[in-house]
Amino acid sequence: MTNNLKGIGASAGIAIAKAYRLEEPELTVEKREISDKEAEKQRFEQAIAKSKSELEKIKEHADRELGADKAEIFAAHLLVLSDPELLNPVTDKINTESVNAEFAMKETADMFVSMFESMDNEYMKERAADIRDVTKRVIAHLLGVQIPNPSLISEEVIIIAEDLTPSDTAQLNRQYVKGFTTNIGGRTSHSAIMARSMEIPAVVGTKQATTSIENDTIVIVDGLDGDVIINPSSEVISQYEEKKAKYEQQKAEWAKLVNEPTVTKDGQHVELAANIGTPNDVKGVLENGGEAVGLYRTEFLYMGRDQLPTEEEQFDAYKAVLERMEGKPVVVRTLDIGGDKELPYLHLPKEMNPFLGFRAIRLCLEEQDIFRTQLRALLRASTYGNLRIMFPMIATVTEFREAKAILLEEKEKLVANGVQVSDAIEIGIMVEIPSTAVMADQFAKEVDFFSIGTNDLIQYTMAADRMNERVSYLYQPYNPAILRLVSMVIDAAHKEGKWAGMCGEMAGDPIAIPLLLGLGLDEFSMSATSILPARTQIKGLSKAEAQSFKEKVLAMTTTEEVVAFVKETYQV
Ligand code: PEP
Ligand code: MG
Repeated sequence: MTNNLKGIGASAGIAIAKAYRLEEPELTVEKREISDKEAEKQRFEQAIAKSKSELEKIKEHADRELGADKAEIFAAHLLVLSDPELLNPVTDKINTESVNAEFAMKETADMFVSMFESMDNEYMKERAADIRDVTKRVIAHLLGVQIPNPSLISEEVIIIAEDLTPSDTAQLNRQYVKGFTTNIGGRTSHSAIMARSMEIPAVVGTKQATTSIENDTIVIVDGLDGDVIINPSSEVISQYEEKKAKYEQQKAEWAKLVNEPTVTKDGQHVELAANIGTPNDVKGVLENGGEAVGLYRTEFLYMGRDQLPTEEEQFDAYKAVLERMEGKPVVVRTLDIGGDKELPYLHLPKEMNPFLGFRAIRLCLEEQDIFRTQLRALLRASTYGNLRIMFPMIATVTEFREAKAILLEEKEKLVANGVQVSDAIEIGIMVEIPSTAVMADQFAKEVDFFSIGTNDLIQYTMAADRMNERVSYLYQPYNPAILRLVSMVIDAAHKEGKWAGMCGEMAGDPIAIPLLLGLGLDEFSMSATSILPARTQIKGLSKAEAQSFKEKVLAMTTTEEVVAFVKETYQV
């Protein structure tokens, strides 16, 4: 059977491989009376042994691929599996109550989990999470079901999932995971953003990937056009192999521009920067000819672990990025947690509208210990390169003033203690909330720069969730409403002699690029893999011509009109 799914091409490239479904299995535990207690205890011991050997492998992989701090979580899990306080009550239950091992395990684990969770102690709460995780693995073995683990994959696959969290995505092994496709998500969901920085082809928002694709079926993921082909014939496979080869050729053409500046036909320079999530991404930035880091999303440092990163860990990461960029500008965004980026260990209450809730700078201004630790790490790292600090989700000038005052306070304290801090750090904000775009003229008097975060600015302006493919038709970067806001922000910056960049996905979009050039954008920050195609495009554009269309475009009525104009004028 041949079948196609249509989704959103979230990361360019083509992958052809076997499907690997990443889903949590149903673990329903029933109580049974057993007659052979010795056999039951043996079954239990075997499940423990299997779980241990799996965890050893996961730990080794995490250590190799993600660093010792991520591997520590699994070391803690292994300790749980050797803890007699947890294991003895299980065998006691089998002995005294004649119950099956999975039931005895679950009852014992549930008892510890609820006891630890009710304690007002972060450490014990984290232990509860460890116990829950580990017992799930043991129970799965007892029930004979497999818990999928992407870090254990050892052959080439395409991941099929309902959704991937950013930390799931971070655990994917690039050697074997050739692509992925999900039911939900859009181009700006964080799994899509991570896929681009890891250069893994991806199609998201297919709605039906998990209901249409069985394990081991051959699948083609076409991240260029947003197509997923299930069980293709050999002719179709050859067609896609050809398309893939063409894309590789195109990439080789682009690569020739890697050391060239980004200059328009009429000699105007714009800066092409990259968005990164970890220090390891800097390699991709330089390989793709990035002139700066326009957005370092520091929240990934806080994710996929079970406690906050220390000041020292953060200092090391920021210093590494600054050093590796060798004096090129690096815009570091302070913690932007919330929305689809959760930190379970902060135990924040569930919210009705997480994208509109207690997140990013709102959280940092309230939980000042977290904020100040990050700022100190940044200030201390500032002497290793060209650091710019940016606050996310700023909605009012007062929030900016508060954040800046805290930053200056920490700087003063460090300097008073004899610590060297750069005096050239620019302090800017993300413009991703409409109120801030509207008030850009006032902000421009106080900030050093703006970086327009269109991923959020579009969702808040259009009231259309960036994760929800059912309202994705409203997610319109080229809507004149968005273009007018962007234009206001750029004009406000220039009036005060400041620069304006954009770090939302729109900055690397071939339809948006001529428009943004015409609106006067100074810096375009995008996924590293978009830099060379963008440079190729910009070299063929005239800034003066693009600017001559500014008023005409801002006076248009619909997205469709804008897109038709760009396509006709620039043959994009
Ligand atoms: C944005 O909102 O445009 C942005 C760059 O930030 P994030 O995608 O991390 O929310
Ligand atoms: Mg944002």
